[in-house]
Amino acid sequence: MTIFSKIVSGEIPCNKVLENEEFLAFHDINPKAPVHILIIPKKEYKCFQEVDPKIMVGLTEFTQKVAKLLGLDESGYRLITNNGSDGGQEVMHLHFHLLGGSKLSWNHLSDSDSHKFL
Ligand code: 5GP
Repeated sequence: MTIFSKIVSGEIPCNKVLENEEFLAFHDINPKAPVHILIIPKKEYKCFQEVDPKIMVGLTEFTQKVAKLLGLDESGYRLITNNGSDGGQEVMHLHFHLLGGSKLSWNHLSDSDSHKFL
């Protein structure tokens, strides 16, 4: 059972933003932007590569609602999913990071190789 499944079951508390039968949005414990929300399917998919594409329709609608609820729909935001080891995924339960609340810099490439892309 992943730490996020424990959050879904209520075993571990979270600062909830929005919930429905299938999805949950809550504040990241270690925010990397003024607003940093994690959006997860309650069902445990290991990563984006293994997700059932059909759930992405509902997840898209849910994410749009979260952005609107937080007033980010007009100002903009960044939506990220880290997939697997090279993607920097730490919690193996599919989740999207919704980041906003200020102009975000673009420095999320590989730390060691970022100079090659600048
Ligand atoms: P990843 O690196 O897997 O894409 O992101 C995992 C995210 O989960 C990190 O941003 C981390 O701060 C967050 N996180 C890890 N454990 C917890 C927790 O117990 N509660 C909350 N709210 N966030 C967590």
